[in-house]
Amino acid sequence: MAYLLSRVRGKSPNEAHRILARLCTPSLRQNVAPNAERVTHVTQNVDGLSLEALSAVSGLSSSESIIEMHGNLFNVACTAHDCSYTSKNTDNPICPALGGTEKIVAEGNTEPIVKRAFLPHCPEKGCGQLLRPDVVWFGERPKHIEMIIELAKVADLCLVVGTSSLVQPASRLPAYVRANGGKVAVFNMEQTNHSDEADWVFLGGCEVELGRVLGL
Ligand SMILES: [Zn+2]
Repeated sequence: MAYLLSRVRGKSPNEAHRILARLCTPSLRQNVAPNAERVTHVTQNVDGLSLEALSAVSGLSSSESIIEMHGNLFNVACTAHDCSYTSKNTDNPICPALGGTEKIVAEGNTEPIVKRAFLPHCPEKGCGQLLRPDVVWFGERPKHIEMIIELAKVADLCLVVGTSSLVQPASRLPAYVRANGGKVAVFNMEQTNHSDEADWVFLGGCEVELGRVLGL
């Protein structure tokens, strides 16, 4: 996790993030999609760059128009099932006790021992359980998946951007859109498994193709 944090830290949104952020902002999409009642950006990325781009282009610090279905690497959440505590944590590592563990893992010990007392704990009154990075691990259920599927079922248009579309359940979303008569456009560097099911396929760099096709 510390390794992933250091790779993601310092990255900035690119033009593709900004184009999608403009599409999510009613005043900025007015010219190209005046009839769009709602645009929701569902991202599989955990780097927080979509929210950062939205903040930069629209001034919003948080938004209902972006759903981070796999969480956000810069948030922590309580591990207690009956506690909903979350907070931002941009420290790297998320607590001093985890410092250097990536080196131990790299040397072959995949489960370095860290004393529980030194790990971050939930500050909620009466809780005190361990905190964890607020990201969806392999095998866990994506966040807000019921809401995402409901949105897909009523969407007129679905843009599948920069993904090989291999990971379930995100890979099923275009099928929900099409089942209800919606259209699907794929933007990717190369053909994907789902290109055959798309109404349009735009191959090439998403930063260029999104701007060219959407006019944003
Ligand atoms: Zn808690």
